[in-house]
Amino acid sequence: MIMIITVIIIGILGLIIGSFLNVVVYRLKKGGEIVWRRSYCPKCEHSLNYRDLVPLFSFLYMGGKCRYCHSAISWQYPLVELTTAIIFILGYLKYLYPSSILEGNATDQLLVYVTFLIFSSFLLIIFVYDLKHYLILDKVTIPALIVALVLNYWLGMPLLNLILAAVVVAGFFLLQFIVSAGKWIGGGDIRLGLVMGVMLGWPKVLVALFLAYILGAVLGLSLIALKKKQWHSQLPFGTFLSLATVITLLYGEGLLAWYLSSI
Ligand SMILES: [Zn+2]
Repeated sequence: MIMIITVIIIGILGLIIGSFLNVVVYRLKKGGEIVWRRSYCPKCEHSLNYRDLVPLFSFLYMGGKCRYCHSAISWQYPLVELTTAIIFILGYLKYLYPSSILEGNATDQLLVYVTFLIFSSFLLIIFVYDLKHYLILDKVTIPALIVALVLNYWLGMPLLNLILAAVVVAGFFLLQFIVSAGKWIGGGDIRLGLVMGVMLGWPKVLVALFLAYILGAVLGLSLIALKKKQWHSQLPFGTFLSLATVITLLYGEGLLAWYLSSI
């Protein structure tokens, strides 16, 4: 019973943080201050009050339309809110589920979980922004890099391990960047490679890299089959990299063990 209540509370927290991440993505593009201005409708610029800002439910209640100008609101908003809630709950089940607490120190586990929430929030911003704008912003990757390095070091991961993971992935991307003269991969991807390295460490970062290419190939080929994209079309690689990193944060150990046992 307590567990169900906790899951609901964490789900609500995820919806609220997801709503905030939507605002961050929007204002990163528009270039406004992130926090201090009141939220407004992007079409009619009418200020939104509390009943327009209830994550997920305002969207459903208003049928996906602005209360003031009745223009359609992007599905991005409720989807990001819902995805954030799901990721936060999956993280809870992994890091704080009663059985895992009994094994270790509860406070340590809570810190690991909070770190996971911070990492996945950064990755969600990169995921959505690259999907929408085909761009990975240094304004996001540089803070993510510093925060991830500090938190993981503080949690006891060896600094050398984190740096090795970051250098290998970023180096791999840099090589592709040089070989293709910047056509296959962008500078933002290289910086994201550093972030992946310090978030995941060695060798888990390899799982994320492998996963990103599989996800990209599967989705790319499906879109070509559906005639939504062509062979030369660009796919937002940062979207796959950040998605793969979140999946690896959640299930990396299992995926690595499975991979090692299958070869
Ligand atoms: Zn409006």
